Amino acid sequence: MPEPEDLERRTTELLQRLIRFNTVNPPGNEEECQTFLAALLRGAGFEVELLAAVEGRPNLVARLPSGSDGPVLCLLGHVDTVLADPADWTHDPWSGDIAEACVWGRGALDMKSQVAAEVAAALTLAEEGWRPESGELKLVITVDEETGAEHGAQWLCSQHRDKVRADLVVNEGAGETFTYVEKRLYGVCVAEKGVFRFTLATSGRAGHASIPRIGVNALTKMAPVLEALAGGRVTPEHSPEPDAFFEALGVDASDLDAALAEVEATDPRGPGSR
Ligand SMILES: [Zn+2]
Repeated sequence: MPEPEDLERRTTELLQRLIRFNTVNPPGNEEECQTFLAALLRGAGFEVELLAAVEGRPNLVARLPSGSDGPVLCLLGHVDTVLADPADWTHDPWSGDIAEACVWGRGALDMKSQVAAEVAAALTLAEEGWRPESGELKLVITVDEETGAEHGAQWLCSQHRDKVRADLVVNEGAGETFTYVEKRLYGVCVAEKGVFRFTLATSGRAGHASIPRIGVNALTKMAPVLEALAGGRVTPEHSPEPDAFFEALGVDASDLDAALAEVEATDPRGPGSR
């Protein structure tokens, strides 16, 4: 096993390097960054393919196979970033500078940091001669995530399904660590919030401003409806995953309203605040 400090240094240096590729999407321009990562992974023994839906924007798929059937673990990431206006920044967004014990730059959080951690871990394992006992370790580093993944994950899944198929995927977003009553916890994402759109209509009767009584105002009929919506709260129900979450927090969830109130009182960011 490598020393943790060595892994940390390697990840930090890789992150700095990745930030120096300007991959603001649009337009992305991820090719140089992806070619750089492909060379590193090939050098460590990975089978690497660059698969592009459009010129200059290749996705990277790297495999470390075992030679026998088994589960495929995929470390997933994207190298494009949202935009950055240097005038808004205290450090150049493409510098990768280290200051105040942080690596500075666009993509340092979303998500070149995790890409750097995934690639550093994969390189270190492969260089030390580690190979999966069965199945394979896969890295999928995509382009075009920030504007809808049309040329990235979506395209890979429709055009190269077999190349990116995996049994287990580690990705960004969920699974953030957090502290609750001095306990460090790791979340697991089991669902996403959805959107429920609907049209609400009230009707009235046309009148005339000079004789208000002959009309019926449809707008004012909307007021109590809006007020009821604003004051409404979701009625919680038991389901296995949230119940497991409460258990991990150490909160008795037999009464859900009380459990939510307890979590909210302890940490206002908790599930009760929604
Ligand atoms: Zn992201």
